[in-house]
Amino acid sequence: MQRNFSKTHVLLAAAFFVSLGLLYSYFRDSFSPISFCQPCIQPDNDFNELEKEMEQIKGIKHSEHCKKDSWKIGELLMQSGLKYAQPSTQTGRTDINAVTNWNAPLVWEGTFDPVVIDAIYKKMDPRVAVVVFAVGKYTRFLKAFIETGEKFFLVGFNVTYYIHTDRENEVPKVALGKGRKITTVPVPSANRWQDVVLGRMKWATLTIEKTIRNEADYLFMMDIDSVFYSRFGAESLSRLSAVLHRGYYKNTPREKFPYERRPESKAYIPAEEGDYYYTAAVWGGYLGDMYKLVKYCYEMSEEDTKNKIEAVWQEESHLNKYLLYNKPTKVLSPEYLWSDYDKVPADIKVVRISQLVKNYAEVRPNGGN
Ligand code: UDP
Repeated sequence: MQRNFSKTHVLLAAAFFVSLGLLYSYFRDSFSPISFCQPCIQPDNDFNELEKEMEQIKGIKHSEHCKKDSWKIGELLMQSGLKYAQPSTQTGRTDINAVTNWNAPLVWEGTFDPVVIDAIYKKMDPRVAVVVFAVGKYTRFLKAFIETGEKFFLVGFNVTYYIHTDRENEVPKVALGKGRKITTVPVPSANRWQDVVLGRMKWATLTIEKTIRNEADYLFMMDIDSVFYSRFGAESLSRLSAVLHRGYYKNTPREKFPYERRPESKAYIPAEEGDYYYTAAVWGGYLGDMYKLVKYCYEMSEEDTKNKIEAVWQEESHLNKYLLYNKPTKVLSPEYLWSDYDKVPADIKVVRISQLVKNYAEVRPNGGN
C-alpha cells in the first residue's frame, strides 16, 4: 500500500512537470520579445548599449545579419520643463546654423561631403526600410515616388519600400536598382484622412513587429505624395533623424509653433518650451529607435482617443512632443522635405524631396484641408 502510494505520487509529480513543460513551450512564443538587428559595424568597436539593455531586459538575441560588433548608440534624453534659449538655425555655414544646441549636426547642403559620408555608411552595408502608405486614391502617387526614389534616395544602398495599401492591384511595376525591392502590405480602407494618417502609427508598429524587425537596420517613415528631386543620401542616417518643417524653420518663436497646446492631450507642449517644429512627412533612424517612437505615437494617440481628443496635427503632434524630450541625433534641414506649393528661398540650396501640389478635396476620402 505504502509502495503503491509513493508510486502514484511519483507518477503524479512527473505528469505535473511534463504539463508545466508543455504549457511553457506553448506560451513561450507569445511572450517572446521583439528583437532588432542594429547596424553592424561600429567605428570604435564599442558594445551596442541599446542591444545590451534589450538583452538584459528582454533576453533579445542578435539576428543572423549582425555577426559583427554593433555601433555604440547614445541616447539624447532631456527632462521636461527645462528652460533654455531657443536655438537658432541662422548661424554656422555663414548663412545658416549647422549644429543644434545639444551638439547634433544640423544637415544642410555644404555641411557634408557626399563622397565621404556615403563611403562610410556603405561600409556598414545597412538595410533601409521605407514605410509608406497609399490608401484610397493616394496610390496615384506611388509611381513617381518610387521612380524618383530609385534615382536619388540612398542610391547604391539596400532599400525596401514597404507599401501599405488597400489597393494592391494599383501598386505599379517599377524598375528597381540592385539590392532594392518592394513589399506590399494590405491595410483597410478609411473614411477619414485623419484615420489614415494616425492609423499609420498602428500599422507601421505591426509591420515592424511582424516583418521589418528581421529585415532592416534603418527605417524611414515618409509621405507618399512627394517626389525626389535631388540626392537624399547617407548624411540623413543616424539613430534618430528629424526634418525641420519648412513652414517654421526660420525665425518662428517657439510659442508660435503649431504644437498641441491643450493640456488634455498627450501631445501637449507648453508655450515656453520647444526647440524646432518637425514634419512627420519624413523621419527616420535606427530600427529599434524608430520602433519605439512609432509605437509611442500610436499609444499616445490611443490614449487621446480614450480621452476623446485628437491631437491638432495627429501623429506629428506626438512626434514633436517625443523629440522635445528625446532629442534627435541629426536634424535635417527643410531640403529634406520641401513643398511644390512654396517658393524656394536662398538658404535652401537644394530641394531633395518635395510634396506635390494636390487637390485635397478630390484625393482625400472626406475632402478638405
Ligand atoms: N494618406 C493616404 N490616404 C489618405 C490620406 C493620407 O494614403 O486618404 C497617407 C499618404 O501616404 C499621405 C500621408 O498619409 O502622403 C499624409 O497625408 P496627406 O498627404 O493628405 O497630409 P498633408 O501632408 O497633405 O497634410
